[in-house]
Amino acid sequence: MSEERRHTSDPLRHVKPAVREVAAYTLAAREAPVKINQNENPYDLPEALKKRVLEQALSRSWSRYPPFDPKDLLEKLAAFSGWRADGILTGNGSNELIEALLLVTVGAGTRVVIPEPTFTLYALLTKILGGVAVRVRLTAELQYDTEAILAARRDAQAPVTVVCSPNNPTGSGLSREDVHRLCRDGDGLVVIDEAYHEFAEASVVPLLAEHSNLVVLRTFSKAMGLAGLRVGYLLASPVLVREIDKARLPYNINFFSQMAAMAALDAYGELEERVVRLSRLREDLEDALGRLPGVKAYPSRANFILIELAEADPKAVFESLYRRGVLVRDVTSYPMLARCLRVTVGTEEENEAFLRALGTALVECQPGVTTGRA
Ligand code: PMP
Repeated sequence: MSEERRHTSDPLRHVKPAVREVAAYTLAAREAPVKINQNENPYDLPEALKKRVLEQALSRSWSRYPPFDPKDLLEKLAAFSGWRADGILTGNGSNELIEALLLVTVGAGTRVVIPEPTFTLYALLTKILGGVAVRVRLTAELQYDTEAILAARRDAQAPVTVVCSPNNPTGSGLSREDVHRLCRDGDGLVVIDEAYHEFAEASVVPLLAEHSNLVVLRTFSKAMGLAGLRVGYLLASPVLVREIDKARLPYNINFFSQMAAMAALDAYGELEERVVRLSRLREDLEDALGRLPGVKAYPSRANFILIELAEADPKAVFESLYRRGVLVRDVTSYPMLARCLRVTVGTEEENEAFLRALGTALVECQPGVTTGRA
């Protein structure tokens, strides 16, 4: 190819227009002493557990592929979740399973009902695959509007409906009865993303036996404290799982992550104590935020809280918190959330540091309020 042609050709013209139209899913890589921006577990895995996994990994050949089907992990997940092993699929984070699920269901023009605001990956992947995201607004109180979701599903004859419960970033959930209704109303798939279910102490997994159109997604990244090792799982009827499995990449979970996930399941009793503690800390944080003038804390069933600021500019508060060593999530670009920030529940000390920093930030960023400083 001549120099001239190489310079004049535009490689981007080969990228699908649907891809060029969407904004990437990104996160500014900022670090901070109090990092409460990604809904991670503030408690690392117990040292003894980590060591057990390391020893296991040392005794295994690293030059060999992991098992083709992670049978042992699937069996443990079946026992943990109460659903059959042949109805479970594991992924490199639940993100990968969201992708596999949409890959086998969404093509050009496929309608996917997605309430909003919610986890943005669903709409992004739907559009990349050529599908259409049919968005259904939450209520003014940021709750799911079940009637509106039902109506949108019917109108669009949508083959897929996605509901995160609890929802990220609002913390609200859909009741089991409402999930029943969605599953009964037509045969479109109903995908319930339960990334935060341990904190809500609620799950729709028991409904899988009744509804072959129900798909549940879960992750080890939140309550299990394994975000760094990327493990998620999907539960559905075995016939559906077999089809979704076709879009999963071979050997998608490395052996180390499989060992760690199994060790976490074996030690769940210990990990659960932390989940209980975090849920209690969430209540404390909600109470404390509720006492701050100009701050509305939305009730949450997850390990994070969405706050709305009445007066102060949320972006200015975000930066002010960051200057004080506290990194939260700026969700102002989400629909309906122009005045909101999302904060993950941290350790008791982290929550206190956040509340102190927020008190100062609010004074600093409230229009017309002086800090007394020059
Ligand atoms: N679903 C929801 C609702 C989430 O909030 C997240 C994480 N932000 C995920 C899925 C992805 O989790 P994972 O780390 O398992 O890919």
